[in-house]
Amino acid sequence: MYSKKIIDMFKNPKFAGEIKNPDAIGEVGNVKCGDIMKIYLKIDSGIIKDIKFKTYGCMAAIAASEAMCKLVKEKTLEEASKITSKDIVKELGGEMPLVKVHCSVLGMEALQKAIENYNKK
Ligand SMILES: [Zn+2]
Repeated sequence: MYSKKIIDMFKNPKFAGEIKNPDAIGEVGNVKCGDIMKIYLKIDSGIIKDIKFKTYGCMAAIAASEAMCKLVKEKTLEEASKITSKDIVKELGGEMPLVKVHCSVLGMEALQKAIENYNKK
């Protein structure tokens, strides 16, 4: 059901974890498969210097978190806010089982929440 790339990212996530004293946090969830995703951002001069995620969920949600982090690290907040779930699926090798598309959307939503949270400060 999953591509090799998704399985690889699920098994060896480089961005899994937590950041102490983050500049922004984004937390989202979906009821479809009970995924909960929390992301932590370290922001310096408008650039995402570090990003970590904690995701409790299915394999697709974890792989999507990993792909999203990879895409936005070292990007400006403006660039990062333009990331779509399509970019995330592309980063995952271009294939996402249709029933799991909502899991890749989760990555994008968590990121947007975190940016929103940061801009409110
Ligand atoms: Zn899921």
